[in-house]
Amino acid sequence: MSILIYAESAEGKFKKVAFELASYAKKVAESLGTTVTAVTVNTANVSDLSKYGVDKVLKVNNDKLSGFTAKAYADVIKQAAQKEGAKLVLLSSTTDSLYLAPLVAVSLEAGYASNVVGLPVSTSPFQVKRNAFSNKAFNITEITTDVKVLGLAKNSYGVFESASSLTEEDFNPTIGDNDFGVKVQSVDKTSGKVTIADAEVVVSGGRGLKGPENWGMLEELASVLGAATACSKPVSDLGWRPHSEHVGQTGKPVATNLYIAVGISGAIQHIAGINSSKVKVVINSDADAPFFKVADYGVVGDAFDIVPKLTQKLKEFKANNS
Ligand SMILES: Cc1cc2nc3c(=O)[nH]c(=O)nc-3n(C[C@H](O)[C@H](O)[C@H](O)COP(=O)(O)OP(=O)(O)OC[C@H]3O[C@@H](n4cnc5c(N)ncnc54)[C@H](O)[C@@H]3O)c2cc1C
Repeated sequence: MSILIYAESAEGKFKKVAFELASYAKKVAESLGTTVTAVTVNTANVSDLSKYGVDKVLKVNNDKLSGFTAKAYADVIKQAAQKEGAKLVLLSSTTDSLYLAPLVAVSLEAGYASNVVGLPVSTSPFQVKRNAFSNKAFNITEITTDVKVLGLAKNSYGVFESASSLTEEDFNPTIGDNDFGVKVQSVDKTSGKVTIADAEVVVSGGRGLKGPENWGMLEELASVLGAATACSKPVSDLGWRPHSEHVGQTGKPVATNLYIAVGISGAIQHIAGINSSKVKVVINSDADAPFFKVADYGVVGDAFDIVPKLTQKLKEFKANNS
């Protein structure tokens, strides 16, 4: 059973999820006694994949694919899977890949499981564990088709280095005309230094911060940690922060290594979007705030007192350990 991954990139550079997917595929390949092939579109430095156990990369360079169009990209992945005879096709759970995976599955007449967490529970029969109900439950799904498509939940596996001797191959799939049905006209990028999707650490603020003028202290904490900033829904509804920072059930999902929530009550709709984060730290002045029930570490106190002290301590720690 050979494995194909779609190694996603943006502006010619691999996204972090590509390395996570490669790490995951390598481990699955070991258990199946097979190899990992990646297909990537308009990406430079493809040799980076050799650090994460990929054996072969199919490089697609084509101006028709300069903007993301799901129909065309899905067709590229399908042709790569057919060329390699892949029985297992792996994608991430980015916005683009969530769009692509069902199209790829349909075109390959494959069974598709989204939101997969962890290595397959069993390879024969083929069963995977998946997040369900906004990450409040798991289910075990069996795929019975010959070809299988999996969507790996973001940050659910991690990035692990595993050197391989990578073979690079130019791949020229047939790309139809330019009418792909849907075309991205423009991209309005968020202004933050680290995006929520790529962040290992997220520092998030709620209505407890009282107003947009107080976000400087969160930005400073985020800058020391190399973190992205995020916020609760009312904060973006009030216009204190851009909507791109809104996390939760109706905002962006966050599955980081560390999520620091400052002045956020922990309503169920907020928790639903951040519950997959590995370590949750909560700073709240109300000891009965619901967020403490899901926190790994909690500080009961005034954010305006605690956050600057935390930032100062982290700066000292970094200075002493650099
Ligand atoms: C259909 C639906 C979908 C929703 N989707 C989302 C979603 O995706 N994301 C989301 O976030 N919400 C969502 N909500 C809203 C959600 O129910 C809550 O209303 C919201 O999360 C509360 O935001 P908050 O915690 O910032 O504000 P509040 O509930 O006002 O909480 C503020 C917190 O700050 C604390 N605090 C106050 N002062 C300080 C201080 N000085 N220091 C430290 N702590 C302090 C308070 O103790 C309190 O716990 C949704 C609601 C609905 C109905």
